[in-house]
Amino acid sequence: MKFNTKLIHGGISEDQATGAVSIPIYRSSTFHQHKLGGEPKWEYARTGNPTRNALESLVTTLEGGVAGFAFASGSAAIHTVFSLFSSGDHIIIGNDVYGGTFRLVNKVLKRFGLEFTVVDTRDLSAIKAAIQDNTKAIYFETPTNPLLKITDIAAVAKIAKEHQLKTIVDNTFATPYNQNPLQLGVDIVVHSATKYLGGHSDVVAGLAITSDEDIAEELAFLQNSIGSVLGPDDSWLLMRGIKTLGARMRVHHENTQDIYNFLFSNKKVAKVYYPGNPNSEDYNIAKKQMRNFGAMISFELQPGLDTRKFVESLQLIDLAESLGGIESLIEVPAIMTHAAIPRDIRLKSGITDELIRLSVGIEDQEDLVDDLKQAFNKI
Ligand SMILES: *Cc1c(COP(=O)(O)O)cnc(C)c1O
Repeated sequence: MKFNTKLIHGGISEDQATGAVSIPIYRSSTFHQHKLGGEPKWEYARTGNPTRNALESLVTTLEGGVAGFAFASGSAAIHTVFSLFSSGDHIIIGNDVYGGTFRLVNKVLKRFGLEFTVVDTRDLSAIKAAIQDNTKAIYFETPTNPLLKITDIAAVAKIAKEHQLKTIVDNTFATPYNQNPLQLGVDIVVHSATKYLGGHSDVVAGLAITSDEDIAEELAFLQNSIGSVLGPDDSWLLMRGIKTLGARMRVHHENTQDIYNFLFSNKKVAKVYYPGNPNSEDYNIAKKQMRNFGAMISFELQPGLDTRKFVESLQLIDLAESLGGIESLIEVPAIMTHAAIPRDIRLKSGITDELIRLSVGIEDQEDLVDDLKQAFNKI
């Protein structure tokens, strides 16, 4: 099966009890046991729910793993994955991760004795230099949020294997449509499925998929023990969204290329971040490991131009957090998604106060360009 067919027929593609083509929403919290002390397939819905299970099976297929797990949010998925480690363990983490992941690491996990070293994971020698006796894993995003930097996944996974470390990649921005880290040697992929996988800005969900049977067993244990599972209604909604991922991504990509060209040639724009820019330092690695460059663009206006006025002047493109929805969304990371990161750390990794992040939607591209044009005319 090719990828677009997998989106629709992958995993458990019909209800085993009734043949329903759309997997039903099983709301039952518990299941009748025919025999005392038997081993029923379903017993309690935190442990396993048929609707969630169908979703988990689908995303396992899409990422090419051995098992997948669905959570109440991307953050819950990431928290559960970090729970694989114990007090005193050390983890190398990318320097440009989602603001909420940065907060989870610094304000929560450090209190439980996990140690972290922040590294630009594009720099392989910096990764090697950060490895200690107690290092257990390398965690990163590629493309990163919001600067869209690209890390060579296969190269990092190779270093990790040499040192018996686990590699964990947040694949939210690329989606399995564009990139499959497990195929490049990674052990665990996490997603905020709130973004492209859900795709309609109407569900908060998270996923973790692994290529390793032992990790799968541990994650199943942790998912059940911690209990931050995705409910059946949201599991259904997410499956529904995933079915059109391919169709949506094709339009996202078309629009993004156009908007990138428009921004790149605009005199009021000082800088554009987009991995599909052939002159960007990361272009060759992006080309090697991604099927397309995704639909996120970040940019800065020329010094002195009013960023606030620009984003507030947009009429069609929504000023809002989040990304990956069918509607175009724009935001200023320093004030919105990345406000949790102290300013000096933010500036050091290149997230200036003026940086603008655009998630290109699937509206007609002329309308999007017209909206940008009228906002440029106001500054
Ligand atoms: C949004 C996001 C998260 C967090 O996911 P939630 O579903 O909001 O909890 C994690 N990683 C990335 C890259 C994200 O964009």
